[in-house]
Amino acid sequence: MHIPSNRVRDIERYFHTELSGRYPEGELRMFVYMLFEAFLGWDKTQLLLHRDDTINQSDLLRFHWAAEDLKQYRPIQHIIGYTDFCGFRIRVTPDVLVPRPETEEIVAHVANHLEHLQANCTTILDLCTGSGCIAIALKNRFPTADVTAVDISPAALAIARDNAQTNHTDIHFMEMDVLKPTQLAALTSSYDLIISNPPYVMESERANMQPNVLNYDPALALFVPDNDPLRFYRAIGRYAATHLAPQGLLVLEINQVLSAETTQQLHTLGFDTRLHPDFQGNPRCISATLPACGTAE
Ligand code: GLN
Repeated sequence: MHIPSNRVRDIERYFHTELSGRYPEGELRMFVYMLFEAFLGWDKTQLLLHRDDTINQSDLLRFHWAAEDLKQYRPIQHIIGYTDFCGFRIRVTPDVLVPRPETEEIVAHVANHLEHLQANCTTILDLCTGSGCIAIALKNRFPTADVTAVDISPAALAIARDNAQTNHTDIHFMEMDVLKPTQLAALTSSYDLIISNPPYVMESERANMQPNVLNYDPALALFVPDNDPLRFYRAIGRYAATHLAPQGLLVLEINQVLSAETTQQLHTLGFDTRLHPDFQGNPRCISATLPACGTAE
């Protein structure tokens, strides 16, 4: 099936009729906006003003292939090659997890909190950085901070480095397995903020996942074994217990179904904790401090 005409309003209509069984209406509208922006550089207003215009054949073909890809549940961010995170353009490929709005919310919260405290946030460590989105957003918000970002995947680090460069941020990237204490031990500084969105989806949760996540996001960034789902929280918690600066803050994105267990894990390591809900009301983030250092925010 081909897009029947190269008139803008017909292209829009085609996406809605062809894909309505697969995606909700609101999501389809967003896809259309994102594709017109990526392929033609049009914002929503320009799209509205040009609905009776026609586009050329080669652009039309791009819309055709985008629709075919969406039928296969290829993520829109992979189709256009980027996503926007906290106002920064982040390139994504199948080597990195597509940054999620929940993570964006956590970064915004942390940045506001540190600014509100007027904390001298001079050293930041981002573990399991993936595309580098968290480190890049924080470095831009705290330009004088010394930001280190770590990942196990050289392919992810290549994307993260590229993202840091295109967003004009100076971040120190390192290849490291967070689960290996001997590797983490190479990071000898103390940090005002240690932040991470580690893999936290249990293998048994695969059955409930959408094909655009399951078939396209890297499994390495998502899954943990059912018999030890908190392995990253234990490793990061142990490291943070000895490497947070006085009044330092540990902030972790979490699996909503494991919020009680994650809290317990951090208490065992000596932290005070606080859970934060995401925009859907699910516990999505835990912040932790060591008792002598202040209160978890
Ligand atoms: N929130 C992501 C998802 O549901 C998972 C991110 C992660 O494992 N860190 O796909």
